[in-house]
Amino acid sequence: MRLVADLHTHTIASGHAYSTIKEIAEAAQQKGLELVAITDHGPNEPGAPHWYYFDNLPVVPKRIAGVEVLKGVEANIIGWEGELDLDLETLSRLDLVAAGFHTRETGSVEENTHTMIKAMAGGLVDIIVHPGNPRFAIDPVRVVEAAQKYGVVLEINNSSLTAGSFRRGSRGNCLKIARLAAEAGIMVVVGSDAHWAEDVGEFGLALELLLEAGVKPEQVLNTSVEKIKSYLEKRGQLRRQALADVEKGQA
Ligand SMILES: [Zn+2]
Ligand SMILES: [Zn+2]
Repeated sequence: MRLVADLHTHTIASGHAYSTIKEIAEAAQQKGLELVAITDHGPNEPGAPHWYYFDNLPVVPKRIAGVEVLKGVEANIIGWEGELDLDLETLSRLDLVAAGFHTRETGSVEENTHTMIKAMAGGLVDIIVHPGNPRFAIDPVRVVEAAQKYGVVLEINNSSLTAGSFRRGSRGNCLKIARLAAEAGIMVVVGSDAHWAEDVGEFGLALELLLEAGVKPEQVLNTSVEKIKSYLEKRGQLRRQALADVEKGQA
C-alpha cells in the first residue's frame, strides 16, 4: 500500500514540536509525498498557538517544495458533548479539522465513547485522531458505527505504535478499530503525527497493522490525493454551511 500524503504533522507552533512548516514540506517532498497537512494543536494544549495562528494560515503558500500544503488543526475535544477548542468561524476557514482527546479529564469508557461520538455528530470534525489511546478508552464497536453513520474518518496513528510513545498500549485497541473498520468498509487514514520533520511520512507500523486487520488500500484516505480532496471539500462545505446557519440565525 502506498500512501501519498501525511495528514497529521506538527510544527514549532505546537509548542512541543521542533520543525517549521517549510521543513515539514521539504521532508514530505524528500519522502515522495504529494501532499502534507499542517495540524498544529488547538489552543487548549499547553504551549499551543492562539486562534490567531489558525486564522492567519492563508499567508502560507498552498504549495511548498513542490508539495501541496493543507492548513489544518488537531483540535482538542474539550467538553463532554464533543465541544472543540476553536470556534466555528476559525474551523470553517481550515482545509482539515482533526480532533481528539489530549490534555483533559479522562472519563469512563461510556463517557469517552459518548463524547467522541458527539464530536463526530457535530459535523465539524473530518478525522478523529488516535481513537485507540488507552488513556481515553472508548468502545470501538460504537465508535466505528458512529464513524460510518456520520461519514467521519478514523486515524491509525503511526506514532502511537512506536516504542517510546506517550500512548503506549495503543496497538491492541488500534487493531480492534481497524478490524471493525475493515468489516464495515469505512474509511481510515494513517497519520505520522510527526513532531520532527524527519518523521513526516513515517507510516510503517500503521501499515503493518492495517495489513493484519485486512484493511484494503481503497479504504485508506491517504492512498490518493483526489480521494483526500473530494472528502475534505465535502466536509469543508458542512462547516461553512453550519457557519452560514448560525449567521442567519443571528441576523
Ligand atoms: Zn503533540
Ligand atoms: Zn494528538
